[in-house]
Amino acid sequence: MTETLERLEFAVEPHASPVSVSERTAILANPGFGKAFTDHMVMIRYSDAKGWHDAKVMPRGPLSIDPACAVLHYAQEIFEGLKAYRMPDGGAALFRPDANAARFRESAHRMAMAPLPDALFLESIRQLVRADRDWIPETEGASLYLRPFMFASEVFLGVKPASEYLYLVIASPAGNYFKGGAPAVTLWVSEHYTRAAPGGTGAAKCGGNYASSLIAQSEATQHGCDQVVFLDAVERRYIDELGGMNIFFVFDDGSIATPPLTGTILPGITRESLITLAREAGFSVREQPYAIDQWQADAQSGKLREAFACGTAAVVTPIGRVRSAHFDFTIGNGGPGIHTGQLKDQLVAIQRGHAADTHGWVERLF
Ligand SMILES: *Cc1c(COP(=O)(O)O)cnc(C)c1O
Repeated sequence: MTETLERLEFAVEPHASPVSVSERTAILANPGFGKAFTDHMVMIRYSDAKGWHDAKVMPRGPLSIDPACAVLHYAQEIFEGLKAYRMPDGGAALFRPDANAARFRESAHRMAMAPLPDALFLESIRQLVRADRDWIPETEGASLYLRPFMFASEVFLGVKPASEYLYLVIASPAGNYFKGGAPAVTLWVSEHYTRAAPGGTGAAKCGGNYASSLIAQSEATQHGCDQVVFLDAVERRYIDELGGMNIFFVFDDGSIATPPLTGTILPGITRESLITLAREAGFSVREQPYAIDQWQADAQSGKLREAFACGTAAVVTPIGRVRSAHFDFTIGNGGPGIHTGQLKDQLVAIQRGHAADTHGWVERLF
């Protein structure tokens, strides 16, 4: 069956009245994040009876959803996030889209959803970027953010894995997150809430993980912090990750540590890429649990020099300060660290075609 699925033809239905050139130019000059959208979207249907079918690139627009649609009740929903970058020669490229395809399949498995063949995932991304190629910003640091997602579309209130799914891809031009270098953020350590428990859905990129993290993020905001960082759900001691970013620690002996993939954190593609780049740059990288009390002690003794968070959307974000109801400590001088900046620059240079792609991470689209 997979064979025929992978050869699915996409019907292309161009938008009859796309956004005007002048309006699009104005949007691309200052797109922000996640608020402006391109003219088209991809949609593919799945049913147990027909498999994946009816693939199309169509005008972006509202969906009509039955009130008994399963996702609205039991939250069978997963998503991905990746970017199309404008290359120096005016073409465009994706960064490790095959890794997003594989993770989407893993997420589907965990949420008992129909797996989308990797080839179909990849083709859907290529089709949408080609249809909306004029929406890839040219400004430095900007990109076209792609959001593939899938949800249970069966109209049924019985509790079971749905027999019908809708897969869509939408695209949103994204500006340079932080013009002129990312400032260091302050993290709030959540002591009331955890993000994911062993055996739970922490390693799946599902909307539900975000829904359950929002209250902790609100708590962080109420305390004047930028982001929340979660501790492990069992001992409430080891650092897991932020609401939507993985975390790294840089030490004075030239080593780097990041929490291991034990199933409670999201296996970030930025995380994995940075591990590779750091090792190549001569750092010894440990995937090892790191306790909050150790973090505080190491920051205070100077053994810990830098910390940063990472993910596709904001790339690399330096961490300057860490707070909770019980402590408040600064990392280094509280500003962005040197190694953090170098690793970020290396990654961004590869993504944007300014440095050689020696790992086969970059897929040219045109
Ligand atoms: C998407 C995501 C990340 C980052 O993954 P990337 O592949 O690097 O973008 C980290 N944590 C969570 C919870 C996420 O959803």
